[in-house]
Amino acid sequence: MTDFTGLRALVTGGASGIGRATAELLAARGAQVAVLDLDPDGVEKPLRGYAADVTDDTAVRAAVEAAVADLGGLDVLVNNAGIGAQGTVEDNDDAQWHTVLDVNVLGIVRTTRAALPHLRASAHAAIVNTCSIAATAGLPQRALYSASKGAVLSLTLAMAADHVREGVRVNCVNPGTVDTPWVGRLLDAAPDPAAERAALAARQPTGRLVGADEVAGAIAYLASPLSGATTGTALAVDGGMQGL
Ligand code: NAD
Repeated sequence: MTDFTGLRALVTGGASGIGRATAELLAARGAQVAVLDLDPDGVEKPLRGYAADVTDDTAVRAAVEAAVADLGGLDVLVNNAGIGAQGTVEDNDDAQWHTVLDVNVLGIVRTTRAALPHLRASAHAAIVNTCSIAATAGLPQRALYSASKGAVLSLTLAMAADHVREGVRVNCVNPGTVDTPWVGRLLDAAPDPAAERAALAARQPTGRLVGADEVAGAIAYLASPLSGATTGTALAVDGGMQGL
């Protein structure tokens, strides 16, 4: 059993799905964990919730400062908050592009800017970004979302290079199709959600969706000293989707 006692972590988008599973896993293994989300009301102890929209720089700075004060420092930042978009380049207008890039890319920039001064003071500083196989897979009907995650991948590599000599590691995970409330909402919009879920599972090499807890495990590894010599990597958690 890996022990994360002593680690102080902040997880964005930690009130649901992958972020929630990550926050709960880190806390269950001894870390002190703060969650930054639009609506952290459902976040329960031992997690600590902080309300902020990652598109609001002032709110992000305030939430990060409050979390760091409560945790007594910061070792781990998990940049996980994100939103989706469907369609080709003809389907999404400029406003939709700005909205998704503001959350998925600039959201990471804002939380990272606020957290870096604190991370530099840590002996085990790590940033983990939630990217996606969409960054490199060339998925149909996902032009905007894929571009946003392509930017997250590039940003991860650039941040890793910029901060490695300051003792801050930066990696990302590339999940495939993960069983979260987000995917549940997409399935619920189908005429027959159960049939759609079965079809989606059948398209996975493993015959099932990836579990949020399985992505959380990969994030926890990259966030912890277990991966202390690893920076600038993208870890696929996709049930074999990527290479196929
Ligand atoms: P989810 O919708 O279950 O959870 C996302 C969380 O982010 C929510 O709690 C939401 O309130 C929060 N959030 C959204 N916009 C925010 C904002 N502006 N400011 C603060 N918080 C905000 O989604 P999920 O499936 O757990 O996705 C989490 C991350 O994983 C996203 O970055 C997503 O792109 C990525 N991802 C998901 C999948 C998948 O199949 N579910 C696959 C690959 C990557």
